[in-house]
Amino acid sequence: MQPITVLPVEGLPLIRAGDNLEKMITDSIPLLDGDILVIASTVYSKAKGNTRDLSTIQPGAQAEHLAARNGEDPRFVQAVLDASEELILEEPFILSALTCGHIGVRAGVDHSNIEDGKVILLPSDPMGAAAEVQEQVQALTGRKIRVIITDTCGRSFRRGQTGHAIGWSGMTAIRDFRGDTDLFGHELAITEEAVIDEIAGFANFVMGESNNGVPVVVVRGCETWSGHDNLYFNRNEDLTRRALTSQAAN
Ligand code: GDP
Ligand code: MN
Ligand code: MN
Ligand code: MN
Repeated sequence: MQPITVLPVEGLPLIRAGDNLEKMITDSIPLLDGDILVIASTVYSKAKGNTRDLSTIQPGAQAEHLAARNGEDPRFVQAVLDASEELILEEPFILSALTCGHIGVRAGVDHSNIEDGKVILLPSDPMGAAAEVQEQVQALTGRKIRVIITDTCGRSFRRGQTGHAIGWSGMTAIRDFRGDTDLFGHELAITEEAVIDEIAGFANFVMGESNNGVPVVVVRGCETWSGHDNLYFNRNEDLTRRALTSQAAN
């Protein structure tokens, strides 16, 4: 197996609305065919102007109510409600399902790494975003790369946040081991590996969370795999979601 190299993309400035992120990246690092370009959703959204100014938000009654219960800014909560397709939990924090399928605390609305008074929204179509980055990079460099757009998320059952893939292009989300045999010849019946989350997790480690200024990471030499893109459970398969929503209804 070839070694896998993980390269931080250093020297990018603070990203602003209208910036050509693909050009900035390809000017900063020479890319090779097959590279996986991992981009923090924060900078993708900032480049697209997908941010909100809290001073322009008029919170409604539900936002006021939840903000009081959770000790948050009602304008921030309104931004979260606007970004949510469905609320899975309302307290002690809002857990939202987004239209893209991602489920995240506070709908992934983020006030880190942006000026005071502003929040960053997750890309509304992260799959489309990843495909667009892939195309733009190919147009700029001729290289056929793969793309993952990430956010840092908490997990159930464990402390600590990790990078999660919220959009991807050029590879499947899941590596499917079903039908393979293990070392003892047993057929694997249910093993599916969420490879893009594993890659997002390590890229997130290289990015850091605070003031590293490394929003983009290149993963080089990662083999290809076959599988499928059904990363998110269907609603009727998702036992955790079902348990949480039935608990909230009681
Ligand atoms: P998130 O995980 O998508 O919410 O992104 P984070 O806020 O955790 O930021 C990930 C990395 O990108 C950190 O190293 C930040 O310092 C860096 N970062 C965030 N915004 C910018 C930016 O506008 N320019 C640069 N150069 N780095 C940024
Ligand atoms: Mn952030
Ligand atoms: Mn974030
Ligand atoms: Mn992060």
